[in-house]
Amino acid sequence: MIVTGGVVITMDAARTIYNDGAVAIKADKIVAVGKASDISHQFKGATQIDAQGGLIMPGLIDAHNHPGQYLSKGIGDDVGILQWLYERVYPYEAHCDEDDVYLSSLGNFVEMILNGTTCFCDPGGYHEHALARAAKDIGIRGILSRSTRDLHSSSYPLPDNLRETTEQAIERGAKLVEQYKDGDCLRAWFSLRVPYNVSDELCVAVRDLAERYGVAVHSHVCAQDGENEMSVERWGVRVLERLRQLDMLRPNLYLVHMGWVTDEEIGWLAENDVKVAHCPSASMHGAYGNISRGTFPKMHKAGVNISLGSDSVTAGRTLDMFRVMYLAACAHKDATLDPHAFGAHAALEMATIKGARAILWDEAIGSLEAGKKADLIVVDTRAPCWHPMGDPVRTLVYSGGGDSVRTVLVNGRVIMRDRVFPGIDMTWLTGEIEQRSKRILGRANISVTSAWPHL
Ligand SMILES: [Zn+2]
Repeated sequence: MIVTGGVVITMDAARTIYNDGAVAIKADKIVAVGKASDISHQFKGATQIDAQGGLIMPGLIDAHNHPGQYLSKGIGDDVGILQWLYERVYPYEAHCDEDDVYLSSLGNFVEMILNGTTCFCDPGGYHEHALARAAKDIGIRGILSRSTRDLHSSSYPLPDNLRETTEQAIERGAKLVEQYKDGDCLRAWFSLRVPYNVSDELCVAVRDLAERYGVAVHSHVCAQDGENEMSVERWGVRVLERLRQLDMLRPNLYLVHMGWVTDEEIGWLAENDVKVAHCPSASMHGAYGNISRGTFPKMHKAGVNISLGSDSVTAGRTLDMFRVMYLAACAHKDATLDPHAFGAHAALEMATIKGARAILWDEAIGSLEAGKKADLIVVDTRAPCWHPMGDPVRTLVYSGGGDSVRTVLVNGRVIMRDRVFPGIDMTWLTGEIEQRSKRILGRANISVTSAWPHL
């Protein structure tokens, strides 16, 4: 198969762009990328997907996303992060059964594919097998993990059925990793949900198991004001100092949010090649302070590998990585009064090749190069917002949107063609999402009132 007739943004090491380019695919892999005339000459008779003058680019990587939270959309609006987590999201998760997680993930993955996201990285939920089933049914690539925590405080209590002993947390997390260790499209990692809910014993056990299985450890860290103070109160040191003392600062440690770090701590991240995921939409929606603190441009300059994530539809309200890229490209300019902070090219790298490196999958995805997996998207640029095109990278980040994504391939398979999903009835899906969400929020006793009168 060849995908041809458009501008190919390869994201290879030289960041090559072919103005009239094509990508040749055999089975699940890319076999050639180049000028359309050369590719069509080399692969005569191949089936064609015509990009009709649009963009052909790597599928976007949403490197931090909770698929299981899709049915909780709306319960995180306009509340503080601790209230949102302990009074809303955790009770929501505690009241979801397998079928809820399956439908939640299905809705989540359909929205992702519609917006050109071909790979997700889940920081941990429950009923992960239902989530995996939805991923397989849609055909999306991703990394699963089981939410792991063993400490519970009386000031921030967890729902009873989410409480586990250290041994249970280790055993259940390891079982999932074991099951997906040879996965082609689906892999599994360990998760330490938040540092203030995990014991040193659990951290060390997960660190050693992750080394043994060759996987990473995903954790929400330094997301908010007061988190370091909570750590000092309980463990006598700030969060990253605690992780350093536990010998966890390694290339397979994957830390999300990370706004509340010092210059010295940024140095530790760079030295140890610790990976960081940035979720600008979640930070802006939830007032986390990860942009206004001004730490991300410093991490970027220090050479820390940063990926991009939507977090969840509840946290950031959008799974459209074009919007997330726009925020990553622009928000730091405003916060630091520096027009060179991040920008479009850095944002696209974070959502593609640097995202792939962050999730330890860059040998296979993140760029369009011969030998890599065929995860790519075709973007329709016929709408006026794309013109004048100028630099296609700046135009896609600053002016484009996920609704322009027309065709999506994952692992060489066409998942969506011309915005049509085979086998998914959207009316059924959205109806089920509405009904099932209401039932879960009812069981969890979560109600969000509307600000204005409804007549
Ligand atoms: Zn998260």
